[in-house]
Parts: sequence; C-alpha cells; structure tokens
Amino acid sequence: MSLANGRTYLAIPGPSVVPDAVLRAMHRASPNIYEGELPDMMEGIVADLKRVARTDQNVAIYICNGHGAWEAALANTVAAGEKVLILATGFFALGWARIAQTMGIKADVLNFGNGGPIDLARVADKLKADTAHSYKAVMAVHVDTSSSNRNDFGPLRTLLDDLGHPALLMADCIAGLGCDRFEMDASGVDVAVAASQKGLMCPPGLGFVFFNDRAADIRKGMRHVSAYWDWSARAAPDAFYQYFGGTAPTHHLYGLRAALEMIHAEGIEAVWTRHATLARAIWAACEHWGQDGPLRLNISDPASRSHAVTAVTIGKPLGTQLRRWCAEEAGVTLGIGLGMGTKDDPASDGFFRFGHMGHVNAHMVLGVLGVVEAGLGALDIAHRQGGVAQAAKVISGV
Ligand SMILES: *Cc1c(COP(=O)(O)O)cnc(C)c1O
Repeated sequence: MSLANGRTYLAIPGPSVVPDAVLRAMHRASPNIYEGELPDMMEGIVADLKRVARTDQNVAIYICNGHGAWEAALANTVAAGEKVLILATGFFALGWARIAQTMGIKADVLNFGNGGPIDLARVADKLKADTAHSYKAVMAVHVDTSSSNRNDFGPLRTLLDDLGHPALLMADCIAGLGCDRFEMDASGVDVAVAASQKGLMCPPGLGFVFFNDRAADIRKGMRHVSAYWDWSARAAPDAFYQYFGGTAPTHHLYGLRAALEMIHAEGIEAVWTRHATLARAIWAACEHWGQDGPLRLNISDPASRSHAVTAVTIGKPLGTQLRRWCAEEAGVTLGIGLGMGTKDDPASDGFFRFGHMGHVNAHMVLGVLGVVEAGLGALDIAHRQGGVAQAAKVISGV
C-alpha cells in the first residue's frame, strides 16, 4: 500500500507545475517555421512578455535556461576585464557572479548573507568609493530562490541616481517574474533576466533578457558580443526565430503563448495577489508549527519574503528526512535546501523549500501543508499541531 500513488506534485521552486493548457498547446506536429501561425504569433508573445515585466522596452528570447540568460545579459553589456558589483542575498547571486568571472569579468561580491535583504548603506559606501565609476553594472537577484529573500530595485535605482553612478542596474527575475511584483520600468531596472520554468509555467528551455535603450546603447559600444548571445537580432520578433538565432524553439513558443494568455486573462495584479495570499497561508502554518518545535521560516521579516518560494529551516537532518517522507509516502516533492550549508550542515540537510510559483492555487497549497503536517507527525518532529488550520484561516480571509 502506498499513499503516494495518484497524481504527484513537484512543489519545488522550478521547474514549476506546467498547466494542462500549456501542455496541450505544445502537443502538436512540428509547425511551419517559415510562415503562418508561428512567425505570426511572435509579435504578440513579445508584447505579452513585456507586459508581465511591466516594461515598454525590449526583450530578447533565447533557447536556454536561466544560466544562459545570466550569461546573455553580461555578454551584451560588460567586457572581459571590466568590473561589476554583485549584491548577494543567497546562492543564486553567487552563481551569477561565477558566470561573470568565467567570462573574464571582475565580479566584486557584497554578501548580505542568506537571512535578509540588501543593506543599502553598505552598497552606498561601496559605490561612493568607486569614484572612477569602474563598476559597469550593479547586479542583484529579485527573489533568491535559495534563501527566499526578495529585494526591491526602486531603492537601488534611487541610490545610483543620487550618487550619479552610471552603472547599469541588472535584476535576476528568474524566480520572481509572474509571482512577486516586479515593475521593470517603474523601478529603473536597465536589464532583467528571466526563464520559462518558474512563474511563467513552461518547461525549462527559454531564457529572456529584458533591456532598456540605455543598455542597448552600451551593447552598441561593445567590441565583441558572441553571435549566439547578441540580443540585437533576438529582440526583433520577426528575425530571431528564423534567420539569426538558429532553429526556433517551436513547441516552447506555443507553450509560452498559452501561459501568457493565462497570466493576462487572470491579470498580473491578480496573479501577484494570489501568490501573496498563498504565501501568507504557508507562513501562517510554518509559524504555528514552529511555536513548539524547531521549524522556522528562513526570512524572519515578512516584508523581505518572496511570494514564490519559502525556505524553511528545521535542523539537520530533519529537512532531508521530511522531504523524503513527503515524496515517498505522499507524492509531494519539496525543494532541497540549497546553498545554505554551514560547517555543521554542509549539505543544507537542515533546510527545505516550498515552491509556490506559477500554476498554484489554494487546494494545492493546503494539500502540501497537510502533507508536511502529516510528515512532522509521522517522523515525530516536535511541532505545534494545527498549522494547516492556520493556513486555512488565511485562505478563508479570516
Ligand atoms: C532557477 C534560478 C536560476 C537558474 O535558472 P536555471 O534555469 O536553473 O539555469 C537563477 N536565478 C534564480 C533566482 C533562480 O530561481
């Protein structure tokens, strides 16, 4: 007998749940890439992507995952030997720094740890000291999927402007786009990267780089940009899929179109509110369980928590044990602890993560929380009973 039989649920922070409408849109014979529906739908896809990121500027579409989008953003804007400043609030910022370093870029990391937001005062000091304006970009992660910290970019924009520092402001929105509020133009972000498999509800395989005209001008001044990553052609809806970038990602584009239709039918504000409410339900359960046991939300300040992913600490090796129980006994896969390792817990076995990005609703979240509560009981992990009831209260609007 196994209670895991039935539809499984990958409740990790990407790849996320792919809606049936997206799967159905992809289930088709290879389309004509020369003319007809596929080329014709590109303009709408580009427009709808920009609406999700709240930008009137440009977006380049790549066949790649988030790592590729990271590289693309830098390949168009920062040359080998130049410098960037990376503001780290988790593992993924360090990953972006590593990509920069392997491109010959000098990446200075200001590390704020895994437990909270960017400290603007430290950023200000660092930028003030850069009187030669040697930093070509200031890079930060919107939602760091490892820590579940969320950063806002408006204050970084204001800081750069106040100091008269010309560095581009670059945002990794891979986890947060389509989940946590992000308004590229209003917050003064110059370059934002995203990928298909998180809030955008598609399989991994498409990367996106949004860039404004200021960044486009910097691209024009670059001596070398690799042909594959050059965003010029990929940002032209009538050109990228056929002539410059190689074969179009045919089926992914159909899936993406269906996903974008879902997002805009719901309305991006409603999508953000749904994610915020479901996140509060998860926090309510976790905070309740933690009153009589070791479980804690990794980000203590709700204002800094993402609405797309929630990292939880519970102590080694309980995180890994609980994840295993949920997968094997109940068909729910939770996210591993990632990049949270310490000397005592190098593998981050004391952590796990709820992914709640994209195609997620109340019954899915309540189901996952019910499974976790059952797992806490089955493994005899100390906790206050009744966390799911607290989550249900949030869902009821009490
Ligand atoms: C998932 C993720 C990445 C990496 O994306 P891949 O598609 O796995 O390469 C980078 N940054 C953030 C914030 C992410 O959530």
